[in-house]
Amino acid sequence: METDGILKMSAGFATIAIHAGQDPAKWSSNAVIPPIVTSTTFKQRAPAEHNGFLYGRSGNPSRYTLEECLAALDGAKFALTFASGTAAVANITSLLSYGDHILSGDDVYCGVNRVFREIVSTHGIETTYTDFTDIEEVEKAIRDNTKMIWVESPTNPLLKVVDIAAVVQTARKRRADILVVVDNTFLTPYLQRPLALGADVVMYSLTKYMNGHSDVIMGAAVFNDKMLDKKLRFLQKAIGAVPSPFDCYLVNRSLKTLALRMERHRASSLVVARWLQHHPMVTEVLHPGLPLHPQYEIAKKQSSGHSGVFSFKHCGGLNESRTFLSALKIFTLAESLGGYESLAELPSVMTHTSVPEELRDEFGITHSLIRLSIGLEDTDDLIKDLNGAFNASFVTATVPKVRQGS
Ligand SMILES: *Cc1c(COP(=O)(O)O)cnc(C)c1O
Repeated sequence: METDGILKMSAGFATIAIHAGQDPAKWSSNAVIPPIVTSTTFKQRAPAEHNGFLYGRSGNPSRYTLEECLAALDGAKFALTFASGTAAVANITSLLSYGDHILSGDDVYCGVNRVFREIVSTHGIETTYTDFTDIEEVEKAIRDNTKMIWVESPTNPLLKVVDIAAVVQTARKRRADILVVVDNTFLTPYLQRPLALGADVVMYSLTKYMNGHSDVIMGAAVFNDKMLDKKLRFLQKAIGAVPSPFDCYLVNRSLKTLALRMERHRASSLVVARWLQHHPMVTEVLHPGLPLHPQYEIAKKQSSGHSGVFSFKHCGGLNESRTFLSALKIFTLAESLGGYESLAELPSVMTHTSVPEELRDEFGITHSLIRLSIGLEDTDDLIKDLNGAFNASFVTATVPKVRQGS
């Protein structure tokens, strides 16, 4: 055969390149680290006789491995992953139909808000917003057609903490068929388990702490109900916003250090928050782990600590914020959070520009509110960095008072 080149071969060159050594049946190697299965299709023994895998969009071994681990971490029966956190939101809200109503917290993540306002709304599903720290307001805001309550706790960038069990009770009192969804991105199951507090679905942007290495965009929904599994699994397959096997491998690997990372994020963020509390240019530190936080007791009751993300207000304005952020050397000026590297940002001009200006002022998302994501570096270096940035941005201000302990 001409394509065999100079050697005589048992089959054509192209056929050999495609099939030699590739028998699907050989992959049971007892590899300790789960392999990345990139195959989009799976061999059937006879028509419609298979091992549970048919086509990569509906099921993939690397994805299943991650989903099984995710479900277990929340003490749940089921977990499904999606191509991003917002894809998880789009799939979860696709459970609703025309005429249904979503009641949402008033400062949920802007990308989630955008799905409600710009996409879900076009399907005849209205979303209204209320302050979930006031349970009476939640009770009043539930309508006869409310089918979903969307909770985020703690919120971003204001770190409001919502009493999840109280919201669930309020919903149940009204009707049994209201799905309570909790965005648990900020705390992860290591620090907070919303299903144990009565919620129906936990949603994650795995992009943040769960992956924790700032190199994967992915989302998840975690839950216990079998009917919900049937519906959401169908939507996952039908909409097709599924993560890649390689990304599933990365997140699955990252979960192995989640406990270690969250311990360090929790401890370091408290050290930095306490230092900031005593800085003369800081007017307020918004951190649920500080006893001064308005919902400190609720946070203590429903979670086992706070992660690395929090905000603070200083006594300057936009200019001081700009100088401060540009002067940072270890903190990187960037959006996102939850990675091993520390980040800083200015929500009023970066992550929260989609919130109308009047609302930003009303909520307190001003030009002097800076959000930090405390990474895994040494806290001494982080504090030195912040101190240097204060010195660079408040040069003519009063001499800092002597700090008295922390
Ligand atoms: C980032 C984030 C999302 C969106 O997730 P993506 O992975 O970016 O699509 C949703 N909720 C919260 C709280 C987030 O921080």
